[in-house]
Amino acid sequence: MTSVDTTIRLIRTTGRDAAGRPAEACSPALARAPWEFDGVLQYGPGSSMGDVIPAGAPRQGALPEEYRTASAEELHARIRAAKRTLGDRVVILGHFYQRDEIVQHADFLGDSFQLANAAQTVPDAEAIVFCGVHFMAETADILARPEQRVILPNLAAGCSMADMADADSVEECWEQLEALYGTESDAAGRVPVIPVTYMNSSAALKAFCGRHGGIVCTSSNAETVLEWAFERGQRVLFFPDQHLGRNTAKKLGVPLERMPMWDPRRPLGGHAGDALLDARVILWHGFCSVHKRFTVAQIEQARAEHPGVRVIVHPECPMAVVDAADEAGSTDHIRRAVAAASEPTTFAIGTEINMVNRLAAEFPQHEIFCLDPVVCPCSTMYRIHPGYLAWVLEALVRGETPNVIAVPDAVAAEARIALERMLDAKPRA
Ligand code: SF4
Repeated sequence: MTSVDTTIRLIRTTGRDAAGRPAEACSPALARAPWEFDGVLQYGPGSSMGDVIPAGAPRQGALPEEYRTASAEELHARIRAAKRTLGDRVVILGHFYQRDEIVQHADFLGDSFQLANAAQTVPDAEAIVFCGVHFMAETADILARPEQRVILPNLAAGCSMADMADADSVEECWEQLEALYGTESDAAGRVPVIPVTYMNSSAALKAFCGRHGGIVCTSSNAETVLEWAFERGQRVLFFPDQHLGRNTAKKLGVPLERMPMWDPRRPLGGHAGDALLDARVILWHGFCSVHKRFTVAQIEQARAEHPGVRVIVHPECPMAVVDAADEAGSTDHIRRAVAAASEPTTFAIGTEINMVNRLAAEFPQHEIFCLDPVVCPCSTMYRIHPGYLAWVLEALVRGETPNVIAVPDAVAAEARIALERMLDAKPRA
């Protein structure tokens, strides 16, 4: 038996990154296996490794030893064999930010919403194995047929950004905003506040939006969704990602002074008296630990070292970074932009490293590198390792269904309302 594969391929095999810079990792803990962090109050190695798993979050039990000690080759062989046995009864979904060792087994690769929809196109699948993070599996369960079961291979694969807005804090915020703004519509029929939640949020918050006339957005359609909300509300409460909210509202012409930030740990979000009366978008104090690493200095360095470089960043990056880039867009936008470039082009990309490295491998005619020279993957995606995938697939073969993510019916019904509003919110002609 070959030695156990406990490393992430991208730091094991590269001495230099795609831009020729010495490869440096954000933490030596990246060379450790996800199960070594079970029971530790952190998500694991990566850019959000300092983020603490919130109390009450689902915890992964100990992965059986046979999966912890198996070689990479053995795990891949077992995954393939289990998939063959299960046939169309199982579909494996892989998020763009997953490591290659997982993506190679995925039936579909995409962003969270593409994947939730993809699950619906596999009519025979009784089990949807979602190689992503917890909120994505919840969304898949909401959109799946009642008899389908959604499985998250490692229950500790949460999302630190999604966890920054919990249902209790948002309810408390809402009560304070109702006390401040009242509940009456204005002469144009617009209610005082429309809640808008990013897809990267719990099912409970999507349900909150469904209940309060609100809506869900993705990084692809945030502009359309904000316009939808402004037609119906005098202002918007946007959570959990302050950066996506700020970047999108700014694009729509909302001045920064009308986008106060709500700090859930402080009364009235940290604002005194009438300071919120003129607000157009109230931004939640949340962020993605991966995307907040990108800086304007990195863009300047990329331009100095690679004249003509095209810089594309994700809108979860801070505003100054989005403003300094050539363009900003969702993971799907980034992928399509690279695929559409007809001439050999140098791209500096500001998003998660697994996706950037995969683009570089897929489009060798271009020079593609990550803006951040430090290798720092999403620590929560890191939790999905082939050992966990083999474990859940072999359990399915035995007729067991471990790690089911089941959103309660009442929550799912309200969350679906907010998701359907999003699907109906068509861009203006
Ligand atoms: S990249 Fe950021 S937003 Fe996406 S799952 Fe990881 S922590 Fe959450």
